[in-house]
Amino acid sequence: MPFIVAGIEMGGTGCKVAISDDNGQYDSSYSLQVVTIDPTNTLRQIYEWLETKRTERPFVAIGIACFGPVDLDKTSKTYGYITTTPKPGWQYVDVVGAFKGLNVPVAFETDVNAPAMTEAALRGDSSAAYITVGTGVGVGLVLENIPVHGLMHPEGAHIKCERIAGDDYPGDCPYHGSCIEGMCKAKAVADRLQIVPSLLSTVPDDDPVWNIQAYYIAQLCACVIYLTSVKRIIIGGGLMKRNGLLEHVRKHVLKIINDYLDIPAITQHIDDYIVASKLGDIIGIQSGFDLAQRVVGNK
Ligand SMILES: [Zn+2]
Repeated sequence: MPFIVAGIEMGGTGCKVAISDDNGQYDSSYSLQVVTIDPTNTLRQIYEWLETKRTERPFVAIGIACFGPVDLDKTSKTYGYITTTPKPGWQYVDVVGAFKGLNVPVAFETDVNAPAMTEAALRGDSSAAYITVGTGVGVGLVLENIPVHGLMHPEGAHIKCERIAGDDYPGDCPYHGSCIEGMCKAKAVADRLQIVPSLLSTVPDDDPVWNIQAYYIAQLCACVIYLTSVKRIIIGGGLMKRNGLLEHVRKHVLKIINDYLDIPAITQHIDDYIVASKLGDIIGIQSGFDLAQRVVGNK
């Protein structure tokens, strides 16, 4: 049986904290959204909410899915920290340590590895990638049921990419310009249309910009396929709600691979290979719950 657990989704612009129901599932009546301001106040708001609500719903563990880069090495002095983020004020912030006072185990993962684990488990996949496309772009990887950490954790969105014909957008990554994230995050799409990102929802589904964006997401998918041989790619994030975008991505992936891989899962069933997130907007918090279940040995 699942336990009652708490989940925290730490995002660069907003955070969410929630306590699960008795079955370990999301219940909107036990959740709180917090604007990501400075670390002290943001983490304190989350802590105080958990401390207050635990009398009604006594959670046994906390799972945190966090924006990065983060330190996932349990032998490191900075384990559980956000490390070198460009987000002002958030460098070397001890996120796990902020919740020690609640005296329950705390699990910590990236905000893309944790969803990869949850989405893979929902589909029974041992190996899967989770790509998010929104304010930023990220890739989480689970290979043979283990989230990939290695030296740090994968940062696949910063792979350099090939430009689609006719696209002269310079890219918006402060480190690399035209890496995948720099070419297809929300600001990159909005810049091409000379609008602010908050107006992207007003852009019609048939605007050519979505095909351009899909081309860059597809290059990331192809890299993931070649390098990791995952059994499924799940794509989520705010920008992926757009009708037709996944179809564009699948079409470009098949063109990029160009029959090099004769794998029916890709060549014949790509609709079931590159798929939308099953959980949509709640994937972050549910993946936090699932991390917490694992840390207490229930999953
Ligand atoms: Zn980059």
